[in-house]
Amino acid sequence: MKITNVATAVIAGNFPWVLVRIETDEGVTGLGEAYWGAGVAELVHKARPVIVGEDPRNINKIVEIMIRCLSGEGSSGGATVTAISGIEIALWDIVGRALNAPISTLFGGRFRDRIRIYADCHAGETPDPADYAKKAKEVAAEGFTAIKFDLDTRNPFTLDISGDPHPRRQWFEPFNRTIGSAELKWMVDVVRAVREGVGPEVMVAMDAHWKFSVNDAIRLAQALEPFDLLWLEDPVPPENIEAQRHVTHSTRTPICTGENLYRKHGYRELIEKQAARIIAPDIPKMGGLAEAKRVADHADLYYIPIAPHNVASPIGTVAGAHVCAAMNNFLVMEFHAHDVSWWSDLVTEGPPIVDGFIRLDERPGHGLTLDEDVARAHLAPGSSFFGDTPHA
Ligand code: MG
Repeated sequence: MKITNVATAVIAGNFPWVLVRIETDEGVTGLGEAYWGAGVAELVHKARPVIVGEDPRNINKIVEIMIRCLSGEGSSGGATVTAISGIEIALWDIVGRALNAPISTLFGGRFRDRIRIYADCHAGETPDPADYAKKAKEVAAEGFTAIKFDLDTRNPFTLDISGDPHPRRQWFEPFNRTIGSAELKWMVDVVRAVREGVGPEVMVAMDAHWKFSVNDAIRLAQALEPFDLLWLEDPVPPENIEAQRHVTHSTRTPICTGENLYRKHGYRELIEKQAARIIAPDIPKMGGLAEAKRVADHADLYYIPIAPHNVASPIGTVAGAHVCAAMNNFLVMEFHAHDVSWWSDLVTEGPPIVDGFIRLDERPGHGLTLDEDVARAHLAPGSSFFGDTPHA
């Protein structure tokens, strides 16, 4: 079997979903997805000449070829790795379809058929703690057993990084990473409201987007301990593993990070220093299915669970769910498109997420078929639809 073509279509979802289609000389076609980002579709097309003619079953070799041939584009991290991730996922889909096996089988089989999904939630533009609780109850009523909110954005006591003044702000500003007393109280009030709203049956995570100093991240994490969070995500900036580790080891609120790291090398120090309690690789961004499994296996040496960050369309989400099924240390996977009404319509098989879970079946590959009419209707302006160039 030989690869004959690689092409992209960018769908305008709540993020640009970069779909990657790979064709072969035996008529088997694979569909993958890369995380959004400027230049990702262009980089997929740039990789085409180095992989056309390769046997798509040699996935690890093809990835290594791309890493080496695209080193000038920056293949140790960033958009190039993201483009490679989309290609890699399409290759696993091809191999699954060629062998008539689900991707999860190719990774050694499943620990579970039902992949637990958490819903990323937003409570409105100027929410109060009660609005968070209301949204949390609505989403839990749909069957989700885990939810996440942003704790730092739309906080009326924090200045936006753009500097827009808020009438309720104190003298705190965003650049020094400190948390004022009123801001801390507001965040605690939000978490208390959500926890009281959904009760102990629903796991609750909170995201802080790398915002705070070490000391103030610890203040926050300790203040949230009574509410038994699933995790507090990214309370400190990501560059300093020692600082991250200090926060993690100073609180019994589990600290989660990892959505902006790339390849197994990017996670090595984080894992080996046990600087996070939970690790959140973004699979269509950090290197793809096999690389995510390698990170999960490495994390499992330290008994660290994996909770993939995910903002993908159904293609990237369900492909990711297949490898999550094969990770013993999988915890929960993100769904970020709760407010995109047509997310499920992008595939013909029906809603991938039902009652807060993805149920994997025996269909080959990732098992999904793109609804081309829906995809074309939401094609990003200027994108080609699997044409010879990334642009229309
Ligand atoms: Mg996050």
